[in-house]
Amino acid sequence: MITIMRKVSTFNPERKIINEAAKIITSGGLVAFPTETVYGLGADALNPDAVRKIYAAKGRPSDNPLILHVHSPEHAAQLVHMNAQAERLAKIFWPAPLTLVLPAKPHIPLITRGGLDTAAVRMPDNPTALALIEASHTPIAAPSANISGRPSPTDAQSVFADMDGRIDFILDGGSVDIGIESTVIDLTNHEKPLMLRPGGMSREIIENELGLTLSVPGTDSAKRSPGTRYRHYAPSIPVRIWHEESDIDTHTAGYMGVHDTHKNFGDVVLFDDFANYARGLFAGFRKFEREGVSCIFVEWPESNSGICEGLRDRIKRAAGCYV
Ligand code: AMP
Ligand code: MG
Repeated sequence: MITIMRKVSTFNPERKIINEAAKIITSGGLVAFPTETVYGLGADALNPDAVRKIYAAKGRPSDNPLILHVHSPEHAAQLVHMNAQAERLAKIFWPAPLTLVLPAKPHIPLITRGGLDTAAVRMPDNPTALALIEASHTPIAAPSANISGRPSPTDAQSVFADMDGRIDFILDGGSVDIGIESTVIDLTNHEKPLMLRPGGMSREIIENELGLTLSVPGTDSAKRSPGTRYRHYAPSIPVRIWHEESDIDTHTAGYMGVHDTHKNFGDVVLFDDFANYARGLFAGFRKFEREGVSCIFVEWPESNSGICEGLRDRIKRAAGCYV
């Protein structure tokens, strides 16, 4: 398969290119596209054969459900049973890095929802993504556009590196804004909404809007959000959390974080703040991988602000320390 890549101006996407991509979606093909979080690997969510191709291209376990990307709250309501909390969050925040898990309507194919009776919906905050969904006249099922387990792609070149020859089309809209995936909230029990995955939207802003605390999933969480079972986001070289006392030879290793260690690392990537750290984390993993460092040391973001809960989650999983 030949993979076509086309540049598109993210904030004013060219109609002709969007239509070319939409035609591939409606004929059952795979299109990678930018969102504000990471690049998605999209297919027609209502076409089981198309969705099956996503799992095959990524090597993704088929019990790991996909997020259905929609162009409006009304579009989401065609797919899932929205409740008052969902309507409120969608109205206030969407488009946003916030995914809602709700009871699925029966016409969503089982393969799209990993065999569950719920489905995940999100309206992405990216004009190219929204134009593609609208032009396709169907919800677009899309996980991140990387080989399963690898760091998520935050630019089109990273998509190409993983997916060349496996998918039909890549919309190159430049680098993404947020850099880690969406926050996933399960609203099926309105008395006890759950945070299944921290991400681009902070817990605090959601809790303030709902007026209650988001519960941490219990031991049945693996069943609720199958994706969280697998090692994720990891490059081919080891990722380790940096501690001052780490007694290692730093010369061949890389380091990434907001604060300098003042150690003699082979390569160092420093970010201005934690939002930039999140934005550059996965690209940093891929850069160190290309350079062939022996190990990637990463700063543990202690702060409770904004993106840090999501950032800690990605670092933990990349380093292979499970919760
Ligand atoms: P990804 O597409 O790789 O960003 O992963 C999507 C995340 O959403 C995974 O962690 C899934 O387990 C989760 N997810 C998608 N659909 C559902 C659902 N119906 N119930 C619970 N979690 C879901
Ligand atoms: Mg993913």
